[in-house]
Amino acid sequence: MAELRFSYGVMSAGKSTLALQVEHTWTEAGRCGLLLTSHDRGGAGRVTSRLGMGRPAVEVSAGTDLWAVVGRAVPPADFVVADEAQFYTPAQVDQLARCVDERDVDVACFGLLSDFAGRMFPGSARLVEMADVLVPLPLPVLCWCGRPARINARLVDGVVVHEGEQVLLGDTAPVEGALFGPEVRYQVLCRRHWARREPAPGADRSGGARRAGDLSGAAGRSCTDRGGPLSGRRPAPPAG
Ligand SMILES: [Zn+2]
Repeated sequence: MAELRFSYGVMSAGKSTLALQVEHTWTEAGRCGLLLTSHDRGGAGRVTSRLGMGRPAVEVSAGTDLWAVVGRAVPPADFVVADEAQFYTPAQVDQLARCVDERDVDVACFGLLSDFAGRMFPGSARLVEMADVLVPLPLPVLCWCGRPARINARLVDGVVVHEGEQVLLGDTAPVEGALFGPEVRYQVLCRRHWARREPAPGADRSGGARRAGDLSGAAGRSCTDRGGPLSGRRPAPPAG
């Protein structure tokens, strides 16, 4: 029996990696599916993971009719893997639920639960209301202090902000040479350090702290290099 699943976590919890793995596993099993995303860090129409994997995907924008997209799939879709589901509208979540119930299509959604102020995204809230199965991602993402990370904190020019638009794209690492406008980036923080507006020491515009869970560096090394050079990664959405 088909199910609507929602796997959620903070940034760096491995959501896109798991989405790609699920799509791969179900395809290997001989099933046909659709991969969806919205505002992925790798650009439109692509699901990319922080570990470097990537796959073409259908880009979901506010006006995309997901009932129609799934219905047009040739060969017919047995499953849908939907990444960055926090950016979908509640109506699009309902369209995916309808695919489960009326077409027997398995739908696995992955996304952030809440935004930079700890408020649920409308699409995520709808998934919590409608999903058959809710799966908190098990990877323990930590604040710089070692406590569990709870908030995808937004830093504007290095300062933790509590107000602003819900969706504002930015990277999870300092961006070299921002030429115009404030630099927007994201860092996972525990509730206490989000409330106190205290990002990782040294996480200002001049560089310093690297993103939590960063796996870059020398082969086999998995420590976070807090004093290392600025990352050269391109700007990307606040998504995991
Ligand atoms: Zn903390």
